[in-house]
Formats: sequence, C-alpha cells, structure tokens
Amino acid sequence: MTRSITLLGATGSIGASTLDLIRRDREQWDVEALTANCSAQELAKLAREFDAKVAVVGDESCLAELREALTGTGIEAAGGEAALCEAAARQTDFTVAAIVGCAGLRPVMKAIERGGILALANKEALVSAGDIMTAAVREHDVCLLPTDSEHNAIFQCLAGNNFADVAKITLTASGGPFRTWSQEQLESAKPDQAVAHPNWDMGAKISVDSATMMNKGLELIEAHYMFPVGLDRLQIVVHPQSVIHSMVEYRDRSTLAQLGPSDMRVPIASCLAYPHRMDTPMEPLNLAEIGELTFFEPDEERFPATRLARNALLAGGGTPAVLNAANEVAVGAFLDGQIGFTRIAAVVEEMLNRYAAQPPSTLEDVLAIDADVRIRAAEVLESYALV
Ligand code: NDP
Repeated sequence: MTRSITLLGATGSIGASTLDLIRRDREQWDVEALTANCSAQELAKLAREFDAKVAVVGDESCLAELREALTGTGIEAAGGEAALCEAAARQTDFTVAAIVGCAGLRPVMKAIERGGILALANKEALVSAGDIMTAAVREHDVCLLPTDSEHNAIFQCLAGNNFADVAKITLTASGGPFRTWSQEQLESAKPDQAVAHPNWDMGAKISVDSATMMNKGLELIEAHYMFPVGLDRLQIVVHPQSVIHSMVEYRDRSTLAQLGPSDMRVPIASCLAYPHRMDTPMEPLNLAEIGELTFFEPDEERFPATRLARNALLAGGGTPAVLNAANEVAVGAFLDGQIGFTRIAAVVEEMLNRYAAQPPSTLEDVLAIDADVRIRAAEVLESYALV
C-alpha cells in the first residue's frame, strides 16, 4: 500500500538521507510536497525525480528560479513562509520535519494541526516551543516519531515500558571534532575544522552545534519534552565511537542500549517503517572490528553549552527559546567568520543573562521571543567581533 509523504527541508542532509531511502522503496511512497529555503535548482531536480505535487522555497526571492526550473512539469511551485505552511498542512500520511532552526517551527505546527505521523528531526522547533508543541501533538493525536539518532535510540529502548520504571536516560555524545582540544586550541578553531565531524556527515549548523556540544544541550531539552521522566533522570555521557546512540536504565538496573552505524538513514528508516522494519543499505555493525567502546564525563569547563541548556530548561518558560535563538545567531556569526569559536557559548550565556522572556502561551509568543532575541543577539555580537 502506498503512503503519501511531505518532506520539509528536502535539500538538506536529513532530506538527502530520507530521499535515498524512499528512492530504494519508490513504489511504497507518493511524494506530496518537497521544500527548501533557496536551493531552487536542487529542489526542482528532486521534485522532478520524485514526481512531487508541489515544490516550495521558503525564500520568496528564489521562487522565479524554481518556477523556471519546473516549467512544463505540471509540478506546482510556491514560495514564502505562508507557502511552506500550506505545504506542511496538505493532506499526507507522513511528514518529515527537517528544516534547520526555528524557521521550521511554524510549518511543523501546521503539520501537527493536520495530524498523521510526524518524524521530527528539526530539534530547534521543539526546543523553542516545547510545551506548546507537545500540547498540540496530544490535541491532534499526532504520532510523533523521534528522528534524531539519540531520541530514536531512546524511543526504541523504551518500547513496551513505562516511564515510571525508568531510572535514567543517557544521551551519548561523540564529543565532536574538538573533544581533545585544549582551551587555547579552541580559541582559534576555524569553521572548516568545526564542520568536519569525525563520525557524522551533517549540515553546517548541527556540525558546529556538535563541536560546541550545544547539540547535546538542545538534545537534552528535546529529550525532556519527548520523554518526560524529569531532568534529574536525564544525563549525558561522551562516547567518541558513536556506536551506542543512547541508553535507558530501568529501576531493576537493566540497561537497554541501541547500537548502529553512524548514519542517519538508520533512525530515519526506523521512522519510515514504524512500527515495522525495513532494509537499509548500511553494512552490518562489526563490533570486533570496532574493538573498543569508551565513555567519558562531559567537560563543561571547555564546553559550557550543556550547562547553559540545562539551566535554560530549569528556568523554563521562554528561556529555551532564548537559548536556541541566541545559539542560531552565534553559530551563523561563527560560520561567517565574525566571532571566534569559544564566543558562541559566550554570546548565548550573555543573552540568557540579559533577556528575561515572559513564559509563552502561544506559538506567536514563541516566535516573538525568537525574533526579539535575534535582534538583541546581533547587538551582543558586535562586542565579540574578531576585528
Ligand atoms: P541542512 O542545513 O543540511 O538542511 C536544512 C534544510 O532546511 C535545507 O533543505 C534548507 O534549504 C532548509 N532551510 C534552511 N533554512 C530554511 C528556512 N529559513 N526556511 C525554510 N527552509 C530552510 O540541515 P540538516 O539536514 O543537517 O538538519 C536539519 C534538521 O535536522 C536540524 O534541525 C538538525 O538539528 C536536525 N538533525 C540533523 C541531523 C543530521 O545528521 N544532519 C541529525 C539529527 C538531527 P536550502 O538547501 O535551500 O538551504
């Protein structure tokens, strides 16, 4: 039986992994909508290949290019945030949310309001609007499938168990490319070094988040909303091999772990096939070849981001949205060569100290905090500029 699917963020790293799996199982899927921000040529190519009904660019200035590239295909082209939301609201069985950043929040909420199955990779949306999004998921009876590898691992380890029996959920972290770097080395880390992740091939923003450990901080908040066992039962351990993707310990001291190759096609496949299983093109895990699995405590002196995220979650209300928006601005500035690597966490910390967000009650409140923090964080950046 074919199922219809919409892919928000089709031209990104998660988008490519998802479409690779769909390509291998083409007759199972009807592609409804594919979206990007401004990669019009790439999006048009994918829309043609997968015979999408509609292709949407978030940046309206790229719509003319998309239209031209789709001339004669019969595929509808649209642009702008409202068009992204309309695409997300179209009737489909399955949505993959893989836009990067809080830019994905409004479309994700539209997909939730429509109902059905939502595979969520766009962690920044959940971090920014945790209570509002989880309430909407319950209200619209959405099947929310965690796509982030750690959360997908936890989801698999939790199957058939009660939250009440969970003693501890452990998120594993690779530690990123700078795990063994000294503070002095970190001060001069360059964008190309930060995006060169040792185990995972990902988009630029999440690669930098991995290098600062903010990715794990965001994931801690994501885990808090997806698996409400209490912050005191969530912990992080550094595991450089990225073979164990996370673990759940139960009160009888039995710990379940999910292992697999460091390839996002594994968790994405688990979502696409849920509640069943499907083939993936990955080689089987060869533990004898891997040889050793090692674990370390996170070092929050060199990598303060996990502390900032935990504190933001404890502060509650709009603070996680502040953390996320400040981080998005700071990561962008680092990638543009405007600030040094260690300034990313410094900018986030300063914004958390400066900005007291009112607890948001609606999506619009969250988006207002996000917009406000972006303006103010840009001012903070000036005092941290490299030149
Ligand atoms: P990429 O940067 O590779 O791709 C992002 C996608 O979002 C692209 O399709 C991009 O379009 C689109 N996009 C960017 N900005 C906007 C915008 N303002 N409006 C609409 N669309 C936009 O990111 P990743 O695939 O790496 O990550 C996507 C999400 O998944 C992130 O939230 C990330 O944290 C999460 N994730 C990623 C993992 C990975 O392995 N990559 C692992 C776990 C989670 P365009 O090409 O036109 O710029």
